Amino acid sequence: MMPVEKIKLTANFKIDLVDADEAAISEIHRLFKEYRKIVNELIEYAHSHGITSFISLHHAKYRELRQRYPTLPSHYIVTACKYAASIYESFIELKKMGRCEKERPVFKGRTVWLDDHLFKLDVGGWRASIAVHGGRWVTLRLLHGRYHDRFKGMKLGEARLVLRDDGSLYLNVVFRQTIVLPEINTDAKVIAVDVNENVIAYGNNEFIERLETNEGIIRTRYFLKRRKIQTKIRGRGLRARLLGKYKGREWRRIREVYYNVAKKIISKAKEAGATVIIMEDLNVYKEDKDSKELNGRIHRWGYRRFQRILEYQAKLHGLNVKYVDPAYTSSLCPICGDELEECSNGRRLRKCKRCGLEEDRDAIAVKNLTKRYYEECMDAKTLKPLLMVGAR
Ligand SMILES: [Zn+2]
Repeated sequence: MMPVEKIKLTANFKIDLVDADEAAISEIHRLFKEYRKIVNELIEYAHSHGITSFISLHHAKYRELRQRYPTLPSHYIVTACKYAASIYESFIELKKMGRCEKERPVFKGRTVWLDDHLFKLDVGGWRASIAVHGGRWVTLRLLHGRYHDRFKGMKLGEARLVLRDDGSLYLNVVFRQTIVLPEINTDAKVIAVDVNENVIAYGNNEFIERLETNEGIIRTRYFLKRRKIQTKIRGRGLRARLLGKYKGREWRRIREVYYNVAKKIISKAKEAGATVIIMEDLNVYKEDKDSKELNGRIHRWGYRRFQRILEYQAKLHGLNVKYVDPAYTSSLCPICGDELEECSNGRRLRKCKRCGLEEDRDAIAVKNLTKRYYEECMDAKTLKPLLMVGAR
């Protein structure tokens, strides 16, 4: 059986508030105000009764809130219960980890969660209708958004109405699609991806390509910028704002790099007829926090984000993704399995005394990851028939 996966895509539409009529805007603002009150009341209730599940919260408060807000479409109360439960649940998680000092969470009311009964989307006409008080609908014009052909065959999911600090309004719509992915087996042609601080290498036993990401250089530059702010700016508020600004800028730059790399790897995979992308299973490093193999190579956090982007994009393009055990993939010979030696003449060059192989670290890692993929597929087939291949 071919593996099946559900994929979500979000399209963000900016809503035209300039040409919208005033009655419509005031209806929307009223919606935000009431929704905020309701969610905060639900959080308060969840907090005082120790409730973290949507079902219990809904059971306890739905009927009462329906009576107190009779003209508000009832589905808003349902999504408010879901929202409050999820906010409270993540608050509890943060609290457990000691990362939150607040007594209880407060919902700022910048977002209204819409299920499929609360909005209609006319993408061709660039319009959206939102359910408001008294069973009425407010129709708004959509200005722009990342809507493209890819969404056309997809199923409409839920949406978020978001009011930003600058007063602009967005409708973020989730689209869903079920994709059938190619199988993970020994017949598959693969592309292995090896991530380093400034270079991402990918390929298989037939070829290898390298892309310079310069991620380490970008990170160092922003690190120095932040350190300068920390020492030179006295005002705490300004300092925090500047640090936040640069942090955001750094991430946007790196994310752009990641997306570009993912795009190139996917198009190369298609060109080479590969159907599976192989990456390192970083969970292996979890047990060994000081792993020399991972440290000094790339920021762990960034690495995971890159993997997530590549996995998502790959699946969207009909490629499967498999994570393999990365242990020793840069220190053992991919041909004979012997330990490699670092060459004195080239910094990245490694040599195998036994079989004479001499290649750079990236090529070795790519070949070893490729090899490991086939080994793990064989193991799954012959030795461990109960192990699900492809399930992470
Ligand atoms: Zn060898």
